[in-house]
Amino acid sequence: MTESRVAIVTGASRGIGKSIAISLATSGIEVIGTATTEAGALTITQSLETTSGKGRGYVLDVGNHESIAKFFTAIKDAHESPLILVNNAGVTRDNLALRMKEEDWEAVINTNLSSVYRMTKPCLRGMTKARWGRIINISSVVGSMGNPGQSNYAAAKAGMEGYSRALASELGIRGVTVNCVAPGFIATDMTANLPEDQRNALSSMIPAGRLGEAEEVAALVLFLAGETAGFITGETIHINGGMYMN
Ligand code: NAP
Repeated sequence: MTESRVAIVTGASRGIGKSIAISLATSGIEVIGTATTEAGALTITQSLETTSGKGRGYVLDVGNHESIAKFFTAIKDAHESPLILVNNAGVTRDNLALRMKEEDWEAVINTNLSSVYRMTKPCLRGMTKARWGRIINISSVVGSMGNPGQSNYAAAKAGMEGYSRALASELGIRGVTVNCVAPGFIATDMTANLPEDQRNALSSMIPAGRLGEAEEVAALVLFLAGETAGFITGETIHINGGMYMN
């Protein structure tokens, strides 16, 4: 049954999303991975061809209504209904609250939070009809603990977690689970620009003594997407090397 399932992974061109796409594909799931550019989508297709021989990359801007509509039209005839949705795409536009510009607030809320509503809604009919679904939203430790300079990002991720709990309450009876995975600091492009001293300071705050790997987050997502995770819903599962314990 798992073999015939289709998963959407947004932001599958790089970092955590790329690892999630590979990990799901390796387990036999047909992956629809998205990138914001044609070149990114092609790279996803090529990577899926070598991993599993099925699935492909599509262009999608999760912050844009038209792009989302175009994406769902394109996948409708080419794939079975997606029963697994991983809302992974995300951006940062950091600044202290006092200096934060309206456009930086809007961009992060739109791309990291409103997109989750927009991507989830078109998947719900197929999942409820199948009486099986897995929605996994990639949040952040910052949504729980806050972080200076990231009030927009923290608000978006905390909002994502609240949305997921409400959705989990609505969909539990239909066999659809909704969970968040909240990574701490993971070595990807998003954290690559941190200066060396900040990176070292970060590592010293993490009991594991290092940044996490995208593959470690992907392994958790793969578990949540599977058959045996059916009794876990409405949860935010933290993965941060012990940096934040709740
Ligand atoms: P990343 O390496 O910067 O990659 C971001 C991904 O999102 C790329 O695939 C990018 O596509 C895609 N993306 C960006 N804007 C998009 C848009 N408007 N529409 C569609 N896709 C878009 O990021 P990452 O570190 O892997 O982070 C992935 C998720 O994990 C994010 O939600 C992030 O908030 C969360 N997270 C990351 C960390 C961390 O330490 N890295 C920690 C906690 C949470 P293109 O390649 O086409 O630009």
